[in-house]
Amino acid sequence: MSGAGLRWLSDDRAGLVTMHGKEAVIGPVLGEGAGISLFRVAGVDTDAFGTFTREVERPGSALDAARAKVRAGFAASPETRIMVASEGSFGPHPAIPLLPLGDELVLLVDRETGFELTGRHVGPETNFAHRLALDVETALDFARQCGFPGHGIFVLGVRGEAPAPDLFCDKTLEDEKALASAAARAIALTGAAFLETDMRAHRNPTRQDAIRRAAQDLVRRLGSPCPDCTRPGFDRRRRIPGLPCSDCGTPTDMTRAWILGCEGCGLEDTRPVPGEPWADPGACPSCNP
Ligand SMILES: [Zn+2]
Ligand SMILES: [Zn+2]
Repeated sequence: MSGAGLRWLSDDRAGLVTMHGKEAVIGPVLGEGAGISLFRVAGVDTDAFGTFTREVERPGSALDAARAKVRAGFAASPETRIMVASEGSFGPHPAIPLLPLGDELVLLVDRETGFELTGRHVGPETNFAHRLALDVETALDFARQCGFPGHGIFVLGVRGEAPAPDLFCDKTLEDEKALASAAARAIALTGAAFLETDMRAHRNPTRQDAIRRAAQDLVRRLGSPCPDCTRPGFDRRRRIPGLPCSDCGTPTDMTRAWILGCEGCGLEDTRPVPGEPWADPGACPSCNP
């Protein structure tokens, strides 16, 4: 890690709160990128903070959930000074409802100094999906589309077309034979089977990639010190539109500059976007109204 980043951490070892093998994903990134050696903190039930099968609803935001995991990690491991937790959110794209979006957050907290920093990755590369199946063939088709058995699939019971894990729930399916049999049982018991992708990291290689990218973002931010106070995480806060049209010079909605900010001292700095200082006329309200 850069000298500036290290000064803000009271240790080069960090605990990770996970039940789903995330240490294999996040550990190498923090080790190679920041010189932090990550170990798994045992004895924390992360499913208590919300699961993807709706048995436990997640309270508050993803950051709230990650902070709750960090607090539980510190409680379970009182000698640990730095704790890391990750939290994913999945749902429809805000602008394109049919496109699912994954949002991964990795949080690092230093208990000694109170320093807190997040890394994030938001992108459409997720297999997050669900489907109501009235027959086993539909269930198998959906599972294959979602990458099963390389990616996990849950089969739940149904009540009024909504998933009802209290009626039936199988999270342990390893192959098509087991999935077909679980779907048949759910259909016999509740009239239909509700299938959804297993978003737990150890059963979802696509999600592992997204968590890896969020960890890389955390490393990038650790290496971005504030020019004034040196706190890491001096980063983009908001964009300034108005990149001029290359034909007529009219300001467009394209990004002209970014405002970078420090969470420590509040310093802000404006940086023009690198590269071409002109917008394509296709984005111009005068040339292409
Ligand atoms: Zn123009
Ligand atoms: Zn600062």
